[in-house]
Amino acid sequence: MGLELVTNLLEVFTAEDPMAFEHPEGDPWADFREIMRIEWKMDFTYKHILGKYSKFFIELANGKFLATECKKCGKVWAIPRPLCADCLGITRWKELPGTGKLESFSVSHFVPAFMEVEIPYVLAMVKMDGAGTLFTHQLSNYGDSPEAIKIGMPVKVAYAKEPVSHPMLLMHFEPA
Ligand SMILES: [Zn+2]
Repeated sequence: MGLELVTNLLEVFTAEDPMAFEHPEGDPWADFREIMRIEWKMDFTYKHILGKYSKFFIELANGKFLATECKKCGKVWAIPRPLCADCLGITRWKELPGTGKLESFSVSHFVPAFMEVEIPYVLAMVKMDGAGTLFTHQLSNYGDSPEAIKIGMPVKVAYAKEPVSHPMLLMHFEPA
């Protein structure tokens, strides 16, 4: 018997040093170059606590877009922050209209399989009306091609109408 005992074995191969250089005493990793590759199905379920950010998602489910406002300096954070990053003041919740302006975006033609999203995936950075920060989230319903997306275009929050598998999916952006 031998490696046939490992039913999920894909291969055993010799790894090369991707950044090889002349070592005075030879290859220091020579004893560790034999590499086993296996196929390993992993299926994890996490309990994920949303903590002080929970109310943001609870109100998203109610069709409301919340930011936080610093009680000390007045800065409005969207994405909300319980603590103001500028002055360390504690913030309070503040509802915003959910509209804004596209400041920047990135078009991705590859996403991890678990994300279960449409491709291309457009990640937008939006200056929300009433906030002093940028909010990053997916931009959808922009038309047939990402060519239609323009910096400065007005966008709005669109709330999920179908059941979602994560509270983050309760919203996306779309052209206003
Ligand atoms: Zn502050």
